[in-house]
Amino acid sequence: MAELLSSSEFRICNSIEDAEIVILETCAIRKKAEDKVYSLLGRLKQLRKKSGLPKKIVVCGCMVTEDGAKNLVEEHGVSVVLGPRRISRIAEALHESETEPVIDISFVWALPPYDISAPYISGVSAYVTVMQGCSNSCSYCVVPSRRGAAQSKPLRQIIDEIKLLETKGYKEVILLGQNISYFGIDKPDTPRLIDLLEIIESESRISRIRFVTSHPAFIDDKFIERLSKLRRVMPNIHLPIQSGSNRILKAMRRGYSSERFLELVRAFRNGNENFTINTDFIAGYDGETPADHCETLELIEKAELDGAYAFPYSERNGTRAALTNNENSIPIIERKKRCKEILDKVKKVALERRKRDIGRSVEVLIEAPGVGRSEGNINVEFEGGRSNEFGIVKIKEVSSFAMCGELEDNCLQEDGIEK
Ligand code: SF4
Repeated sequence: MAELLSSSEFRICNSIEDAEIVILETCAIRKKAEDKVYSLLGRLKQLRKKSGLPKKIVVCGCMVTEDGAKNLVEEHGVSVVLGPRRISRIAEALHESETEPVIDISFVWALPPYDISAPYISGVSAYVTVMQGCSNSCSYCVVPSRRGAAQSKPLRQIIDEIKLLETKGYKEVILLGQNISYFGIDKPDTPRLIDLLEIIESESRISRIRFVTSHPAFIDDKFIERLSKLRRVMPNIHLPIQSGSNRILKAMRRGYSSERFLELVRAFRNGNENFTINTDFIAGYDGETPADHCETLELIEKAELDGAYAFPYSERNGTRAALTNNENSIPIIERKKRCKEILDKVKKVALERRKRDIGRSVEVLIEAPGVGRSEGNINVEFEGGRSNEFGIVKIKEVSSFAMCGELEDNCLQEDGIEK
């Protein structure tokens, strides 16, 4: 949206108090995120009372629902409401709102032009959205109802975006999709994720390729075998498991067992023990017993995870879980306690993984002098170095999620392959 607006007559403003238009891009995955938006809307109402600014408030993204949109306009003075697939209409919608409020929450994907759709991070890496929505039905998740069924972006547009990013000097692309393992399944004549990765490797010279978020039920051994042959797809995967208990996984409708997850972990590391694996956990899902929680803690050890996000279970209206499991809900204090135990365990296990890196020389993409990321997506610190170049760092010290060492070599990657 920032890119789209700055190519129009709008300018980015540094302070919310001076902004004539405030745009809130929202997330609905957890209740806390929605609560924050409502509190910010309250603050904006106060500001508007005092100074007349902002003249317009825009609410975009997953928080927007058909029922909620009207309320945002009538109760919170919002001028434009755009659903997640409509955000590339931002400039147009702002113009249309001169006469009356605009509500556009259709699930038809308004594809942004290929030369503007990637939000850039850190000057060296760029996100490339390759699909929207999700066609799964995990019991706790609002994504399918807020973002609609999975829709893959046309292959040509993805390749054009990546080639453009490459000419702009970006060294890394991160392909994005809610369940990226589903890429192409919605369109019979579209390549699947592994085909897409192979095509990107052969048609572009971008140095590093990553993809998030994967789903264990959609990964097979053939995918892993073909992936292992791709040199520029980085040896790292974010593979959410959510729970180590098969009973809870079934209740969550995730479509795999903890044993299958462990098989995948072994397969990814087969032939490359430095392949890093991160995951997500939901702590204290309805009906989760202390024994289920212990199975999650055991899984962390068995999988030797490199990192994980964990959140206390947050009930979302309209999900299957919210409709059926209320009687089994775990007190929030217990959810938080289990969440902390999961994170503590991950920290301990990840530290053991990182200790193996002491003495190794790792290739780092330098994001700023002194900081970069390894191929396994671990933060690495060192003295010196030039931004947006590659370096070799000899690791001297480690913590659970970071490494520190000495820059041995800092060389410009001329053509994306040879260094
Ligand atoms: S796969 Fe991910 S986005 Fe899709 S329903 Fe499940 S948790 Fe939600």
